[in-house]
Amino acid sequence: MKTQVVVIGGGPGGYAAAFLAADLGMQVTLVDLEENPGGVCLYRGCIPSKALLHAAKVLTEAREAEEFGVTFGAPEINIDKLRHWKNAVVGKMTGGLGQLSKARNVQFIRGRASFQNANTLNIEGGENIEFEHAILATGSRPAAIPAFDIGSDRIWNSTAALELKTVPKKLLVVGGGYIGLELGTVYSALGSEVSVVEMTGGLLPGADRDLVNILAKRVEAQMHAVMLNTKVVEIKEVTGGIQVTFEGDAAKEKVQVFDNVLVSVGRAPNSQNLGLENTKVVVNKRGFVEVNGARQTAEPSIYAIGDIAGDPMLAHKASHEGRVAVEAIAGHKAVFEPRAIPAVVFTDPEIAWCGLTESEAKRDGIPVEVARFPWAASGRATTLGRNDGVTKLLIEPQSQRILGVGICGSGAGELIAEGVLAIEMGAVADDLKMSIHPHPTLSETVMESAEVFFGQATHVFRPKKK
Ligand code: FAD
Repeated sequence: MKTQVVVIGGGPGGYAAAFLAADLGMQVTLVDLEENPGGVCLYRGCIPSKALLHAAKVLTEAREAEEFGVTFGAPEINIDKLRHWKNAVVGKMTGGLGQLSKARNVQFIRGRASFQNANTLNIEGGENIEFEHAILATGSRPAAIPAFDIGSDRIWNSTAALELKTVPKKLLVVGGGYIGLELGTVYSALGSEVSVVEMTGGLLPGADRDLVNILAKRVEAQMHAVMLNTKVVEIKEVTGGIQVTFEGDAAKEKVQVFDNVLVSVGRAPNSQNLGLENTKVVVNKRGFVEVNGARQTAEPSIYAIGDIAGDPMLAHKASHEGRVAVEAIAGHKAVFEPRAIPAVVFTDPEIAWCGLTESEAKRDGIPVEVARFPWAASGRATTLGRNDGVTKLLIEPQSQRILGVGICGSGAGELIAEGVLAIEMGAVADDLKMSIHPHPTLSETVMESAEVFFGQATHVFRPKKK
């Protein structure tokens, strides 16, 4: 079989690439292990986790409605129905992608692919595909800790946690990154007593502390325990649970038993067993495939995109890279050079940022002025009963250009898109200040942060230092 473009992996990188290639008139084959495109994002990542987080939000809002005089009875949670609904969301989306593939005449092959050489792909147990160009988009999998591999089904990774087989009485989340916190939020809302253990001194390493501190307060109140600077040193199965031994002052009891342990300590790229040794593709020490600006590997006929091509391992970055690779294959001038890739943590409150972070500015000695607008001064945040938030702009002092935006607060994930546009368009603080934002909305906090920069914010009194 011959094809112009073969895409290996049907995640948000792979299917976005396959669809654009077909839209540009290329003959396209898409190979994936699942029945339909979707990848980790749709089957066991972004979409099922956000479906469950939505249920968690409804539960939390119902509980907190008491504050303004609305009291619901204790919620009855039908776990089978919730699981069914989450699976239906996944089925609807992945089925839709299958239909979109057909509509575009993308040939979808279910199977495991590996390279025989720079122009031939083999489908395990099946035929060979000769291609002009290949786009490698095999994604990533949960990173495993060998010491935790004790053959117990009480030890979960994110995929197992998303299956929602049971709501454990006591759940330990190992790792205070975004996946652990999002899934911890889900199980805590469903009634689990959740403890989080994190080796470093703070949750969400990498995110700005002023944003994380707001979230940390709520996480500490919501969860049973948050143990920072603490390590798991031993783990074993005992009758009725998993016995975990901690090392670190934050663990009040050094040995504790949990019903389940969720290990969420990062993700590892799927770059093995792909026959890459039969090509000139270079894989670095961390297992990522090396690519140039057009996402082309050292083997000119092969491109790599998404999680397998490096950080940040995010769905929207994968899709964008996929489209860049296809444009390059089509002979257009294309390069992956974003000024701002948004990152969103869908906790409660959400945290989102894009462009330069304050921590990066400090680390690299980049001069910035930071303008912060506290949500305590936002009318919309007050009507929602959610003043726990902040919006901040990182502004280049000379040019007054927006270099970064950070938000912590309800719906931050939706609000950050304005920051991305501002940075990509080279907006200056005045542009945000002068754009009329609708009232009363949380989006006004972006405009008022720009006003803070000039010492002229309507709802906070913070004169500009002379
Ligand atoms: P993937 O989505 O990983 O897809 C790769 C595909 O390749 C898979 O379908 C796999 O079956 C297939 N494959 C692998 N090897 C082969 C082979 N040899 N032959 C054929 N097919 C193969 N990102 C966000 O941006 N926002 C979020 O909210 C978010 N939430 C997440 C929540 C969780 C719990 C997890 C685990 C991840 C989350 N992510 C999120 C990350 C996001 O899922 C990934 O960044 C994204 O899926 C990467 O896309 P990709 O196209 O690189 O590959």
